Amino acid sequence: GDWAAAESLLRNLSPEARVLLVCHVNPDGDALGSMLGFALGLQRLGVRRMQATFPGPPEVPVPLQGLPGLDLLVPATEAYPAPDLVICFDAASESRLGELVDRLDTAGASLVLDHHASNTHFGEVNLVDPYAAATSVVAEQLLTRLGVGLDAGIAECLYVALTTDTGSFRFEATTPAVHQLAARLLATGIRPGDISRRVFDTRPFGAVRLFGEVLGRARLEPVAADGRGLVWTWATLDDLVRHDQRPYVLEALIDSVRCTAEADVSCVLKQTAPGEWAVSLRSKGAVDVSRVALALGGGGHRFAAGFTGRGTAEEVVDRIRGQLDAAVIPSAGS
Ligand code: 5GP
Ligand code: MN
Ligand code: MN
Repeated sequence: GDWAAAESLLRNLSPEARVLLVCHVNPDGDALGSMLGFALGLQRLGVRRMQATFPGPPEVPVPLQGLPGLDLLVPATEAYPAPDLVICFDAASESRLGELVDRLDTAGASLVLDHHASNTHFGEVNLVDPYAAATSVVAEQLLTRLGVGLDAGIAECLYVALTTDTGSFRFEATTPAVHQLAARLLATGIRPGDISRRVFDTRPFGAVRLFGEVLGRARLEPVAADGRGLVWTWATLDDLVRHDQRPYVLEALIDSVRCTAEADVSCVLKQTAPGEWAVSLRSKGAVDVSRVALALGGGGHRFAAGFTGRGTAEEVVDRIRGQLDAAVIPSAGS
C-alpha cells in the first residue's frame, strides 16, 4: 500500500536529492511540529539537502519559536524551485499550500502526510489517517518504519504537535495509542511542563487585555428550537493595533470562547484585511462544523474547522447560522 510506497520513496533518495518539506498556511503546532520533527528524522537518515517552509508571511508564532529544527526553515520565496521530493504536512488540500502549490508540480515526487478526513490525496503517495489524532502520529509511524529512533529533538517537535491537536489530551481522538506515543516521546527526557508553559500558557500582558475586550463583546444566541446555542465574537486589525499585538495571539481565543456551557457551537472571527476574516469553528459534538466550513469554502475536522469569510462579521455569522441545521449530526435512535 501507500506505506510501502512512502518507505521506498525515502529509502531510495539519492544523497544529493533536494527535499522540500511544506505545511499549511498559518501553521499551528501540528503543522510545524510534525514537519520539523520529521525533518530532524530525515537528517538522521542522511538526507543533507533539505529545506522546510510554509506559505504566507514567514513568521513563526512566538509560542512555537522554541521548536527544535527551526534552522531548517526558509521563506517560501526562497524554497527550492524544483525539489526532487516534496513532503507535505497537515494540509487537507492543495489550497492550504498557497503559493507553494507550484512546488508540487515541479517536484520529482510528492508525499502527503495528514489526518483530515476530507484530504483530497493530492500527492503521488498519500499517508492519510483520519483516525490519527495529529499528523505527527502519522509522521512518527513513518519514521519508525524507516528505522529512525526518537531523540529529544524529534520528540519535542512531535510532542508539541500531539498536545496541540489533542487539546493536551482532552479531545475525543485521545486514544490509548496517543498516550502510548506520548509516553515514548517523554521517555527521551523532554520536559512537558516547560514545553506546555511555552506553547500554551504564555502570552503578553497586552494579549490578556485584548482577550478581555474581545471576550467582553461575545454574543450568545439560541439557534434551534431544541436550544442548541451559538457563541461568537470577533477581533479586528484595529484591536491588534490598539493592544500592540501580533495576529498569532488570537489563535488561543477560541479556547476561551468554546467553554460556554450554553453553546454547542463556538466561533471566532479574526480580521485579516478589510472585509476579510479567518474564521474558527468548534463543536461539542452536536454539529459537524467541518460541513459548515466546507459549505463556506474552508474545511477541517468534525469538531474543529475553519474558513475565510468575506463581508462584515455579522454577514459572515449569518452564513454560518444558515448552515447549522444541515450540519447537525443525526443522533443514534432519533
Ligand atoms: P483553527 O480554527 O485552529 O484555525 O483551525 C481548525 C481546523 O480547521 C484546522 O485544523 C484546519 O483543519 C481547519 N481550517 C482552518 N481554517 C481553514 C481554512 O481556511 N481552510 C480550510 N480548508 N481548513 C481550515
Ligand atoms: Mn493544522
Ligand atoms: Mn493536525
